[in-house]
Amino acid sequence: MSTYNKVYRVTLSGGLIGLLGSSSKRALQMRLEEINAKGEEVAILKDDTTNLLQMILYLIILICTLLLWCPAPGYLIISRPIPKVGAQIRPQGGAGAGRQSPAAPKPTAEKRCQKCNAALIPGDAFCGDCGAPVG
Ligand SMILES: [Zn+2]
Repeated sequence: MSTYNKVYRVTLSGGLIGLLGSSSKRALQMRLEEINAKGEEVAILKDDTTNLLQMILYLIILICTLLLWCPAPGYLIISRPIPKVGAQIRPQGGAGAGRQSPAAPKPTAEKRCQKCNAALIPGDAFCGDCGAPVG
């Protein structure tokens, strides 16, 4: 679904609540978790700005709440989908492991068949290659 960049706004708290209680780090963290949950990551982080109309609106809200709270400009996050790196790495690792695994069952014993010189598996009574009894 999300194959394009998206813009998210992080709004902070102003007023007395903003001064005392709110943390811009926490607000940003919460928004980042939300973005990550959607399979996106931050491409660009930019300070949000307000125009004059917004500032007047914020001021009215601030007065209405008796200076307790108003929205404050925070950040603009431009996100992008997280590239699926794992899907590209896995086939390479699988091919390498597949190439090595046939060598793993190869007998490591020093003993060799006296008839055909094939390597012998320890404990075997007969040669796995020619069937000659192991001396
Ligand atoms: Zn043999």
